[in-house]
Amino acid sequence: MEKVVIVGTGCAGLTAALYTARANLRPLVLTGKQPGGLLTTTSVVENYPGFPEGIDGYELMVRMQKQAERFGARVQFGTLEAVDLSRQPFSLTVDGERVEAETLLIATGASHRHLGLESEEKLENKGVTYCATCDGALPRFRNQPLVVVGGGDSACEEATYLTRFGSAIYLVHRRDKLRASKIMAERTLAHDKIKPVWDSAVTEVLGINQQKVTGVRLKNLKTGAESTLDAAGVFVAIGHIPNTQLFKGMLDMDEHGYIIPKQGTATNVPGVFVAGDCADRVYRQAVTAAGMGCAAAIDAERFLAARNE
Ligand code: NAP
Repeated sequence: MEKVVIVGTGCAGLTAALYTARANLRPLVLTGKQPGGLLTTTSVVENYPGFPEGIDGYELMVRMQKQAERFGARVQFGTLEAVDLSRQPFSLTVDGERVEAETLLIATGASHRHLGLESEEKLENKGVTYCATCDGALPRFRNQPLVVVGGGDSACEEATYLTRFGSAIYLVHRRDKLRASKIMAERTLAHDKIKPVWDSAVTEVLGINQQKVTGVRLKNLKTGAESTLDAAGVFVAIGHIPNTQLFKGMLDMDEHGYIIPKQGTATNVPGVFVAGDCADRVYRQAVTAAGMGCAAAIDAERFLAARNE
């Protein structure tokens, strides 16, 4: 019987692992399919406090794992396949094996929605990115034309952020009206560096031969006309998908699938706690996820202590 099972090894999961390990709870930490989480897919992380020169995303996650393991966390390469939260202890199926847990800490994160293009996949981290805050300041994007894809608040936020670095920001949206909130949309469209490209879809990211993004091929969805646009970067901001499908019907979620904590990090099921991007559609930063992971660990520790009193 496990006292604490943590699902996910992004910033939230590994911080929760560190804290529960230091509380002598010997957490079992499941990596899921993407050990280290979304940060491992980015290059330099420049906004995690404590690293003035920046740190490679992969290295940061390796360090977090080592730190948690030093205090007794057991990180296991494994994926949670099924879960029964209807009775205590919780019953989990991990790669076909049954695991029983007194508390469950969900830190499964969210995945960036992709355009689904082969060229997009091939040029990921070579100019295609899903996070302007993480990557926008990299030298390759400075004083270069950049493309942001999407029409929601995220796309507007990314485009506005990128105006600090790029020479021009092309906001490519599939309709002729932004989905973003009025204030964000107005602010974005008023910026002289941001040029909207309406009714258009990116059909190909260019630059595979050069091994770096050189532009995009566009299709006007109203006229069918094709064109190309030179750009050094493509920032895809077409939404996130929280990795919470497994818990549907068991835990309270909003209409987008983000788990809604009831109090602190506690969910509607006593003994189940949540942290990081699977429960946060607003901030979605490494450091906020780490903070929630810490809070969830403390909540789980107090839950166990109160039960054993
Ligand atoms: P979103 O609101 O779901 O917007 C996604 C955008 O991407 C939409 O414009 C959508 O087009 C477009 N899109 C979706 N799939 C696409 C595809 N396959 N190809 C091309 N375009 C595609 O997502 P979000 O902007 O990430 O925002 C998510 C939530 O977080 C929202 O509730 C938002 O308000 C909130 N948020 C708030 C802030 C803030 O307040 N500062 C910042 C970021 C996010 P259509 O418009 O045609 O559907």
